[in-house]
Amino acid sequence: MVRTSPFACMGVGALSVWEKSSTARVMPPARPRKLAKVPFVELADGRLQGVVSSGSDIGRVYVSSVTARTYAFACSTNNNRPCGGARGMFCKHIQALVGEAVLQYGAERVARYLAVETPDGEPDAHSVTAAMTAARPVRGDSAAAAQVFSRFLRQLAYLELDAVTSPLPEMQWFPPTRAVA
Ligand SMILES: [Zn+2]
Repeated sequence: MVRTSPFACMGVGALSVWEKSSTARVMPPARPRKLAKVPFVELADGRLQGVVSSGSDIGRVYVSSVTARTYAFACSTNNNRPCGGARGMFCKHIQALVGEAVLQYGAERVARYLAVETPDGEPDAHSVTAAMTAARPVRGDSAAAAQVFSRFLRQLAYLELDAVTSPLPEMQWFPPTRAVA
């Protein structure tokens, strides 16, 4: 069986962008950031959705989502294979996605967007996940996965822009490389 890159379907350009980013920039030597695990997360289209790296296979990513209010969840590979861990409940990819969203947006905003009522006190990734799990959400369809994945690739394309000194908000998942003197 020929192993193809998850980005092969997007053409050579996308693949090379990914390769460039994955060799030098995504993996900081000292302390791997969680963002390398969840390279893309957004609150959009009534969902928390994003791209989560496979824990075991660097050539594979998962597109995961949770729908606001119903918490219907979906997780599939970028090749549209269903995630084996997301049958009856949130898989580890969705849990990682919630954790990363809380880091990026703050637990309160994530809870508000998804319409999650957490017990008294400050919400955090754990309480938000627990509250959704307690509602026994069903598995939704992964129809939006291709869209989410292409948005992720579009963000990768920023790598091809000339260097600028002003921050690009979309770039914040890239770990800082080295300090500029
Ligand atoms: Zn999964």
